Amino acid sequence: MFNFEKFNHATSIWDSVSSPLEPAQTLNGDISADIVIIGAGIVGLSSALHIAKNGYKVVVLEGRRVGSGASGRNNGQVIPTLSGAEPDEIIKRYGEVGERFVALIRDSADYLFQLAKDENIECEAEQTGWFQPAHSLAHLSISEWRNAAWQKYGAPCKMLDRAQSSALIGSKNWYGGMLNPTGGHINPLMFTQGLATAAKRLGVQIFENSPALNIKKKQDVWQVSTKQGRVRGDKLLLTTNAYSDDLAPDLMPKVAKSIVPTISFQLATKPLSKKLQKSIIPNRQAISDTRGDLQYFRYDARNALISGGALIYKGNAKQRLKKLVGNRLTTAFPQMGKPEFTHVWSGYIGISEDRFPHFYQLGDGFWGWSGCNGRALALAASLGREFAAIIDSKTDIALPMSEPKQFAFHSIVRRLAPSALAYYRFKDKQNPKIKR
Ligand SMILES: Cc1cc2nc3c(=O)[nH]c(=O)nc-3n(C[C@H](O)[C@H](O)[C@H](O)COP(=O)(O)OP(=O)(O)OC[C@H]3O[C@@H](n4cnc5c(N)ncnc54)[C@H](O)[C@@H]3O)c2cc1C
Repeated sequence: MFNFEKFNHATSIWDSVSSPLEPAQTLNGDISADIVIIGAGIVGLSSALHIAKNGYKVVVLEGRRVGSGASGRNNGQVIPTLSGAEPDEIIKRYGEVGERFVALIRDSADYLFQLAKDENIECEAEQTGWFQPAHSLAHLSISEWRNAAWQKYGAPCKMLDRAQSSALIGSKNWYGGMLNPTGGHINPLMFTQGLATAAKRLGVQIFENSPALNIKKKQDVWQVSTKQGRVRGDKLLLTTNAYSDDLAPDLMPKVAKSIVPTISFQLATKPLSKKLQKSIIPNRQAISDTRGDLQYFRYDARNALISGGALIYKGNAKQRLKKLVGNRLTTAFPQMGKPEFTHVWSGYIGISEDRFPHFYQLGDGFWGWSGCNGRALALAASLGREFAAIIDSKTDIALPMSEPKQFAFHSIVRRLAPSALAYYRFKDKQNPKIKR
């Protein structure tokens, strides 16, 4: 029987190489703040930091530990695009606010790297670029179209031909693709913990192992209850994303049911030799290709390759993942031989029905979001700035607001979601259709 808990709390490579933060206290008793934030991932903590800079008193409630959700367990690729929403589609749907949102996405990788510098966050950051190689000749047309679309909105991306792509990756298995030099990679747990430290410096109070269980509004004040305490605040942010029903299913079901939490597995190899590093991604870009059943990899600071994959059926997951991802790496880089893996772990990504991220006003003075769709690390850092602007009643916000759209038959869809991988694998072999 597949034990998701085992993987979702398995030691990741990031846990192994990052010093743990001093545990924060659990909330006990009644306290108050200007702003209450539920969830200490990058969105919650970047929001806390930016809001505190505007002079507000902020309390963050985290159900487990800082970074124990997707933010501390992801692949760490800093990517200034979304996985399922293209710039023209965003603008067609949302107009002027869509244009601001596209600009936010375009600048999101630069923003994250700059934020890390400004806040002195040591997170093994490497702004070496993000490359999205086409996995078939037919998919090269998608890369060309996407590259042109982003260039139209001012992104500094460019196309590489097959020879340039092979030299960049160190593999002839891809056909060219889009390079965006503002991307790169980080140690995501160190970044998340660094945001928490920076926020605490500004007086933000963070409580761990304090899941929010209930939200109420009484006499214009939001009240969030935990098992042993309560926080009152004028304004409230819900930043639990894919983990929205993990600890408290009844907290905000309409947000929890707006996404399907889907397991993404991650694997780290032993550090590669100096000789292999010269032939495999010699300039250390972050790579994720055009497949739906994505192939992706990046170096960490110790020269391990961090990759990952998904499974439909989860039996004997660890061994099957090592075989699946091992075969993919060997096929791409025969010089590597059969890789040895030191860590296998996983996390939840929140998939929305239309593959767009969604931003909500959930009440008077209450906002939230969902739908990272597996690619929102760079976005998450910028969302903190935008949520701070919303809290500060600024206009010209870059986030298009909508009502949470719940999946019909959510629990059934959730159970069947892993089988969508079969469809992605089938589609990866077909000629792609350009979304106009
Ligand atoms: C395995 C994996 C690989 C990924 N790789 C990449 C990548 O390479 N590049 C990229 O761009 N994106 C990637 N992503 C997506 C990226 O990690 C997420 O978009 C981003 O981290 C979302 O941050 P967040 O703050 O919204 O959510 P999270 O980091 O998940 O934070 C939510 C927090 O809320 C807490 N919580 C839940 N319920 C409660 C409650 N009731 N009370 C209090 N706290 C609660 C959780 O414990 C959690 O800490 C990946 C995701 C996964 C899972």
